[in-house]
Amino acid sequence: MRNIVLEAVDLVKIYNVNTENAFEALHGIQFRVYDGDFIAIMGPSGSGKSTFINTISTIDRPTHGKVYIHNTDVSTMSEEEIGKFRYENLGFIFQAFNLLDTHTLFENIAMPLSLAHTPVEKIHARVHELAKLMDIEHSLEKFPNECSGGQRQRAAICRALVNAPKLIVADEPTGNLDSKNSAELMKLFRQMNEEMGVTIVMVTHDPLITSYANKLIYIRDGRIETELERGPMTQETFFSAITEINSAESKGLLDA
Ligand code: ADP
Repeated sequence: MRNIVLEAVDLVKIYNVNTENAFEALHGIQFRVYDGDFIAIMGPSGSGKSTFINTISTIDRPTHGKVYIHNTDVSTMSEEEIGKFRYENLGFIFQAFNLLDTHTLFENIAMPLSLAHTPVEKIHARVHELAKLMDIEHSLEKFPNECSGGQRQRAAICRALVNAPKLIVADEPTGNLDSKNSAELMKLFRQMNEEMGVTIVMVTHDPLITSYANKLIYIRDGRIETELERGPMTQETFFSAITEINSAESKGLLDA
Protein backbone atom coordinates (compact mmCIF):
# COMPACT_ATOMS: atom_id res chain seq x y z
CA MET A 1 0.00 0.00 0.00
CA ARG A 2 1.43 3.41 -0.99
CA ASN A 3 1.38 6.25 1.53
CA ILE A 4 -1.10 9.08 1.17
CA VAL A 5 0.81 12.34 0.58
CA LEU A 6 -2.19 14.64 0.38
CA GLU A 7 -5.85 14.19 1.20
CA ALA A 8 -8.73 16.61 0.66
CA VAL A 9 -11.96 15.80 2.47
CA ASP A 10 -15.30 17.45 1.57
CA LEU A 11 -13.44 20.39 0.08
CA VAL A 12 -15.67 23.44 -0.43
CA LYS A 13 -14.46 26.84 -1.62
CA ILE A 14 -16.89 29.76 -1.57
CA TYR A 15 -15.62 33.11 -2.80
CA ASN A 16 -17.13 36.19 -1.12
CA VAL A 17 -18.68 33.95 1.49
CA ASN A 18 -21.56 35.43 3.50
CA THR A 19 -22.15 38.20 0.94
CA GLU A 20 -24.73 38.48 -1.82
CA ASN A 21 -21.89 37.80 -4.29
CA ALA A 22 -21.08 34.45 -2.71
CA PHE A 23 -19.92 31.96 -5.33
CA GLU A 24 -19.28 28.29 -4.63
CA ALA A 25 -16.33 27.30 -6.85
CA LEU A 26 -15.67 23.82 -5.35
CA HIS A 27 -18.57 21.65 -4.20
CA GLY A 28 -17.28 19.13 -1.66
CA ILE A 29 -14.39 17.41 -3.41
CA GLN A 30 -12.77 14.19 -2.14
CA PHE A 31 -9.25 13.74 -3.44
CA ARG A 32 -6.18 11.68 -2.56
CA VAL A 33 -2.62 11.89 -3.80
CA TYR A 34 -0.42 8.87 -3.17
CA ASP A 35 3.34 8.78 -2.87
CA GLY A 36 4.83 8.67 -6.39
CA ASP A 37 1.74 10.02 -8.19
CA PHE A 38 2.16 12.35 -11.15
CA ILE A 39 -1.25 13.93 -11.59
CA ALA A 40 -2.51 16.33 -14.26
CA ILE A 41 -5.62 18.38 -13.55
CA MET A 42 -7.64 19.44 -16.59
CA GLY A 43 -11.03 21.02 -17.20
CA PRO A 44 -12.68 23.89 -19.07
CA SER A 45 -11.78 27.47 -18.29
CA GLY A 46 -13.54 28.59 -15.11
CA SER A 47 -14.19 25.01 -13.91
CA GLY A 48 -12.16 25.55 -10.70
CA LYS A 49 -8.70 24.12 -11.53
CA SER A 50 -6.71 27.01 -10.06
CA THR A 51 -9.03 27.27 -7.08
CA PHE A 52 -8.57 23.56 -6.51
CA ILE A 53 -4.79 23.49 -6.76
CA ASN A 54 -4.45 26.63 -4.61
CA THR A 55 -6.77 25.23 -1.96
CA ILE A 56 -5.03 21.86 -1.68
CA SER A 57 -1.56 23.42 -1.56
CA THR A 58 -1.91 26.02 1.26
CA ILE A 59 -1.97 29.00 -1.16
CA ASP A 60 -5.64 29.49 -0.31
CA ARG A 61 -7.87 28.15 2.47
CA PRO A 62 -10.96 25.99 1.99
CA THR A 63 -14.25 27.46 3.22
CA HIS A 64 -15.31 24.02 4.50
CA GLY A 65 -13.58 20.67 4.62
CA LYS A 66 -10.05 19.61 5.41
CA VAL A 67 -6.70 19.32 3.65
CA TYR A 68 -4.05 17.00 5.05
CA ILE A 69 -0.49 17.00 3.72
CA HIS A 70 1.77 14.30 5.15
CA ASN A 71 -0.98 13.66 7.73
CA THR A 72 -0.84 17.27 8.94
CA ASP A 73 -4.06 19.29 8.88
CA VAL A 74 -3.00 22.39 6.94
CA SER A 75 -6.50 23.89 6.73
CA THR A 76 -6.39 25.27 10.28
CA MET A 77 -2.73 26.34 10.51
CA SER A 78 -1.78 29.94 11.28
CA GLU A 79 -0.14 31.98 8.49
CA GLU A 80 3.22 31.64 10.25
CA GLU A 81 2.92 27.85 10.53
CA ILE A 82 1.84 27.62 6.89
CA GLY A 83 4.90 29.61 5.74
CA LYS A 84 7.25 27.27 7.57
CA PHE A 85 5.33 24.19 6.41
CA ARG A 86 5.65 25.32 2.78
CA TYR A 87 9.40 25.83 2.97
CA GLU A 88 9.85 22.43 4.52
CA ASN A 89 7.44 20.34 2.48
CA LEU A 90 6.30 21.87 -0.81
CA GLY A 91 7.80 23.08 -4.09
CA PHE A 92 5.81 25.45 -6.32
CA ILE A 93 6.21 26.02 -10.06
CA PHE A 94 4.05 28.62 -11.76
CA GLN A 95 3.55 29.74 -15.34
CA ALA A 96 5.17 33.12 -14.72
CA PHE A 97 8.29 31.53 -13.14
CA ASN A 98 8.27 34.21 -10.40
CA LEU A 99 12.02 34.73 -10.45
CA LEU A 100 13.33 37.99 -8.99
CA ASP A 101 14.85 40.07 -11.82
CA THR A 102 17.29 41.84 -9.49
CA HIS A 103 18.87 38.54 -8.42
CA THR A 104 21.05 36.11 -10.37
CA LEU A 105 19.81 32.60 -11.09
CA PHE A 106 22.06 31.36 -8.28
CA GLU A 107 20.51 33.78 -5.78
CA ASN A 108 16.99 32.97 -6.96
CA ILE A 109 17.54 29.23 -6.61
CA ALA A 110 19.25 29.61 -3.24
CA MET A 111 16.50 31.77 -1.77
CA PRO A 112 14.48 29.10 0.10
CA LEU A 113 17.72 27.83 1.69
CA SER A 114 18.93 31.35 2.55
CA LEU A 115 15.60 32.03 4.23
CA ALA A 116 16.03 28.83 6.24
CA HIS A 117 19.57 29.99 7.31
CA THR A 118 21.30 27.04 5.67
CA PRO A 119 25.14 27.23 5.85
CA VAL A 120 26.71 28.88 2.77
CA GLU A 121 28.78 25.84 1.69
CA LYS A 122 25.68 23.65 1.80
CA ILE A 123 23.74 26.16 -0.30
CA HIS A 124 26.55 26.30 -2.83
CA ALA A 125 26.73 22.52 -3.15
CA ARG A 126 22.97 22.05 -3.42
CA VAL A 127 22.44 24.82 -6.00
CA HIS A 128 25.26 23.51 -8.19
CA GLU A 129 24.01 19.94 -7.91
CA LEU A 130 20.55 20.91 -9.19
CA ALA A 131 21.82 23.39 -11.78
CA LYS A 132 23.98 20.65 -13.24
CA LEU A 133 21.02 18.29 -13.38
CA MET A 134 18.93 20.94 -15.15
CA ASP A 135 21.79 21.99 -17.41
CA ILE A 136 21.99 25.65 -16.32
CA GLU A 137 25.20 25.46 -14.31
CA HIS A 138 26.95 27.84 -16.73
CA SER A 139 24.18 30.43 -16.41
CA LEU A 140 24.07 30.70 -12.62
CA GLU A 141 25.66 34.16 -12.53
CA LYS A 142 23.26 35.55 -15.13
CA PHE A 143 20.16 37.58 -14.35
CA PRO A 144 16.78 36.21 -15.49
CA ASN A 145 16.46 38.80 -18.30
CA GLU A 146 19.75 37.51 -19.77
CA CYS A 147 18.35 33.97 -20.03
CA SER A 148 15.95 32.16 -22.38
CA GLY A 149 12.45 31.17 -21.28
CA GLY A 150 13.58 27.57 -21.01
CA GLN A 151 16.54 28.49 -18.80
CA ARG A 152 14.34 30.62 -16.56
CA GLN A 153 11.86 27.79 -16.20
CA ARG A 154 14.68 25.38 -15.34
CA ALA A 155 15.89 27.85 -12.71
CA ALA A 156 12.37 28.01 -11.27
CA ILE A 157 12.36 24.23 -11.09
CA CYS A 158 15.73 24.21 -9.31
CA ARG A 159 14.32 26.68 -6.80
CA ALA A 160 11.23 24.49 -6.28
CA LEU A 161 13.48 21.47 -5.71
CA VAL A 162 16.23 23.10 -3.67
CA ASN A 163 14.78 22.16 -0.28
CA ALA A 164 14.10 18.58 -1.51
CA PRO A 165 10.29 18.71 -1.22
CA LYS A 166 8.44 15.43 -1.63
CA LEU A 167 5.50 17.22 -3.27
CA ILE A 168 5.63 19.61 -6.22
CA VAL A 169 2.62 21.74 -7.14
CA ALA A 170 2.59 23.32 -10.60
CA ASP A 171 -0.02 25.57 -12.26
CA GLU A 172 0.34 25.65 -16.06
CA PRO A 173 4.11 25.11 -15.83
CA THR A 174 4.48 25.07 -19.62
CA GLY A 175 2.21 28.07 -20.18
CA ASN A 176 5.05 30.32 -21.34
CA LEU A 177 7.13 27.74 -23.20
CA ASP A 178 7.21 26.68 -26.84
CA SER A 179 6.38 23.07 -27.66
CA LYS A 180 9.99 21.89 -27.70
CA ASN A 181 10.77 23.35 -24.26
CA SER A 182 7.41 22.10 -22.96
CA ALA A 183 8.26 18.53 -23.93
CA GLU A 184 11.74 18.91 -22.40
CA LEU A 185 10.19 20.18 -19.18
CA MET A 186 7.78 17.24 -19.03
CA LYS A 187 10.67 14.82 -19.49
CA LEU A 188 12.33 16.48 -16.50
CA PHE A 189 9.11 16.18 -14.49
CA ARG A 190 8.95 12.51 -15.35
CA GLN A 191 12.58 12.05 -14.37
CA MET A 192 11.96 13.81 -11.04
CA ASN A 193 8.94 11.61 -10.51
CA GLU A 194 10.49 8.28 -11.49
CA GLU A 195 14.08 8.69 -10.38
CA MET A 196 13.85 11.11 -7.45
CA GLY A 197 10.51 9.90 -6.11
CA VAL A 198 8.93 13.37 -6.24
CA THR A 199 5.12 13.42 -6.21
CA ILE A 200 3.68 15.96 -8.67
CA VAL A 201 0.28 17.64 -9.02
CA MET A 202 -0.03 20.03 -11.96
CA VAL A 203 -2.73 21.95 -13.80
CA THR A 204 -2.58 22.05 -17.59
CA HIS A 205 -4.97 22.55 -20.49
CA ASP A 206 -2.77 20.62 -22.92
CA PRO A 207 -3.50 16.88 -23.55
CA LEU A 208 0.08 16.34 -24.72
CA ILE A 209 1.44 17.66 -21.41
CA THR A 210 -1.05 15.49 -19.51
CA SER A 211 0.13 12.41 -21.42
CA TYR A 212 3.44 12.61 -19.50
CA ALA A 213 1.57 12.23 -16.18
CA ASN A 214 0.28 8.94 -14.80
CA LYS A 215 -3.19 10.13 -13.84
CA LEU A 216 -5.73 12.62 -15.20
CA ILE A 217 -8.25 14.38 -12.96
CA TYR A 218 -10.90 16.14 -15.04
CA ILE A 219 -12.77 18.92 -13.24
CA ARG A 220 -16.02 20.46 -14.38
CA ASP A 221 -18.18 23.01 -12.57
CA GLY A 222 -16.27 22.60 -9.31
CA ARG A 223 -16.48 18.79 -9.21
CA ILE A 224 -14.18 15.95 -10.24
CA GLU A 225 -16.01 14.52 -13.23
CA THR A 226 -13.56 11.90 -14.49
CA GLU A 227 -10.42 10.21 -13.22
CA LEU A 228 -8.22 8.27 -15.61
CA GLU A 229 -5.11 6.28 -14.66
CA ARG A 230 -2.51 5.72 -17.33
CA GLY A 231 -1.78 2.21 -15.97
CA PRO A 232 -0.21 -0.02 -18.65
CA MET A 233 -1.26 2.31 -21.51
CA THR A 234 1.47 3.63 -23.79
CA GLN A 235 1.85 7.40 -23.79
CA GLU A 236 0.22 7.48 -27.22
CA THR A 237 -2.87 5.51 -26.11
CA PHE A 238 -3.13 7.60 -22.94
CA PHE A 239 -2.89 10.75 -25.08
CA SER A 240 -5.79 9.54 -27.27
CA ALA A 241 -7.91 8.80 -24.22
CA ILE A 242 -7.16 12.26 -22.77
CA THR A 243 -8.03 13.93 -26.09
CA GLU A 244 -11.30 12.03 -26.19
CA ILE A 245 -12.30 13.19 -22.69
CA ASN A 246 -11.48 16.79 -23.63
CA SER A 247 -13.27 16.70 -26.98
CA ALA A 248 -16.38 15.11 -25.43
CA GLU A 249 -16.39 18.15 -23.20
CA SER A 250 -16.06 20.53 -26.14
CA LYS A 251 -18.81 18.75 -28.10
CA GLY A 252 -21.16 19.41 -25.20
CA LEU A 253 -20.68 23.11 -25.93
CA LEU A 254 -21.64 22.87 -29.61
CA ASP A 255 -24.98 24.30 -30.69
CA ALA A 256 -27.63 21.60 -31.08
P1 ADP B 1 -9.97 27.66 -13.80
O1 ADP B 1 -8.64 27.66 -13.14
O2 ADP B 1 -10.49 26.28 -14.09
O3 ADP B 1 -10.05 28.54 -15.02
P2 ADP B 1 -10.79 29.16 -11.44
O4 ADP B 1 -10.46 28.29 -10.30
O5 ADP B 1 -9.87 30.28 -11.75
O6 ADP B 1 -11.03 28.25 -12.75
O7 ADP B 1 -12.23 29.76 -11.21
C1 ADP B 1 -13.35 28.96 -10.86
C2 ADP B 1 -14.58 29.85 -10.68
O8 ADP B 1 -14.39 30.67 -9.52
C3 ADP B 1 -14.81 30.81 -11.85
O9 ADP B 1 -16.20 30.92 -12.05
C4 ADP B 1 -14.23 32.11 -11.35
O10 ADP B 1 -14.90 33.22 -11.93
C5 ADP B 1 -14.47 32.04 -9.86
N1 ADP B 1 -13.44 32.77 -9.10
C6 ADP B 1 -12.09 32.52 -9.13
N2 ADP B 1 -11.43 33.36 -8.31
C7 ADP B 1 -12.36 34.17 -7.75
C8 ADP B 1 -12.32 35.25 -6.79
N3 ADP B 1 -11.16 35.67 -6.25
N4 ADP B 1 -13.49 35.82 -6.45
C9 ADP B 1 -14.65 35.41 -6.98
N5 ADP B 1 -14.79 34.41 -7.87
C10 ADP B 1 -13.66 33.79 -8.25
